Amino acid sequence: MNPLRTLILAAAGDDRVREVVARAPVSRDVVRRFVAGEDTEDGVRAAVRLAGQGLCSTLDHLGEDVLDAADAEATVGAYERLLARLAEAGVAGRAEVSVKLSAVGQKLGDADLVLRNASRVCAAAEAAGTTVTLDMEDHTTTASTLATLAQLRQRWPWVGAVLQSALRRTEDDCRELSGPGSRVRLCKGAYAHPEELAHRDAHQVDLAYVRCARTLLAGDGLPMFATHDPRLVAILLHLLGTVKRPPGSVEFQLLYGIRPAEQLRLARAGHTVRVYVPYGQAWYGYLMRRLAERPANTAFFLRSLVTRT
Ligand SMILES: Cc1cc2nc3c(=O)[nH]c(=O)nc-3n(C[C@H](O)[C@H](O)[C@H](O)COP(=O)(O)OP(=O)(O)OC[C@H]3O[C@@H](n4cnc5c(N)ncnc54)[C@H](O)[C@@H]3O)c2cc1C
Repeated sequence: MNPLRTLILAAAGDDRVREVVARAPVSRDVVRRFVAGEDTEDGVRAAVRLAGQGLCSTLDHLGEDVLDAADAEATVGAYERLLARLAEAGVAGRAEVSVKLSAVGQKLGDADLVLRNASRVCAAAEAAGTTVTLDMEDHTTTASTLATLAQLRQRWPWVGAVLQSALRRTEDDCRELSGPGSRVRLCKGAYAHPEELAHRDAHQVDLAYVRCARTLLAGDGLPMFATHDPRLVAILLHLLGTVKRPPGSVEFQLLYGIRPAEQLRLARAGHTVRVYVPYGQAWYGYLMRRLAERPANTAFFLRSLVTRT
């Protein structure tokens, strides 16, 4: 992994860094580029606007690593309100939700609580007429997230998973999850992983991404290709031309605020494009991962800090 990226992700876990970044007024300006707003209505407005442009969305109520049951409960309530509002606004057919299990109690060490909370979000999604995808977090959570996914899918077979090509285990996970009804978002991975579990350099992560994409495309599920990487997108479009898949049986996914012209270009070419829309007040972890992905973002952020303070 790029050393600057490793450094930013490590600094993100430091309480002093968190305090400086969270308090700096300029952080909010940077956040606005990547986050749709602070409350439910901001998320719904973004979904409606994207739907008007022919784009689907997956909404993420920001927050992660909650350490008490009351915060986990608050997250579930936020998703229940959001899903009801998406249905009322008439966009549930195009807008689903993404959930981090660490936001509904995964770090509390009570697997039953996590399953109960995630089940409530799935039930609300079912009532609204849409779906849920479980975001993937750092490598310590992969096995338990996939175990919860398997339990949820017994009742709601449409619950989606995220797999990270940076992790060596992912090629096996792709084979496991390429069956009928399975929805898999394939991404490179936004977290720092230990070297024994992960590919060492970016090129290996890309090669693994392509191998995983081939596996998912050869299967019977719905592959959801989450990347902004122009080279990977070109390869995916080429691979799509070589397989027999009905239109709409693959999604391209990009993050809110990143390569918006590319989002529209893919949609206009007839592909299903889903934009990941984060909203809420707990934007710190999300912002740090976006900065770590791209040195230019970090430079922009640091320059703004210096010129503003
Ligand atoms: C819809 C979606 C959902 C995701 N869900 C998860 C998840 O659940 N778990 C997880 O670990 N990761 C998730 N990710 C993040 C993912 O793992 C990568 O960290 C991220 O997408 C950057 O990798 P890339 O494939 O875009 O390629 P990169 O090689 O990182 O980027 C390629 C190009 O894309 C553009 N770009 C990429 N990132 C940025 C940025 N932050 N700002 C501006 N331009 C940028 C630049 O032009 C860059 O050159 C998700 C990504 C997407 C798109």
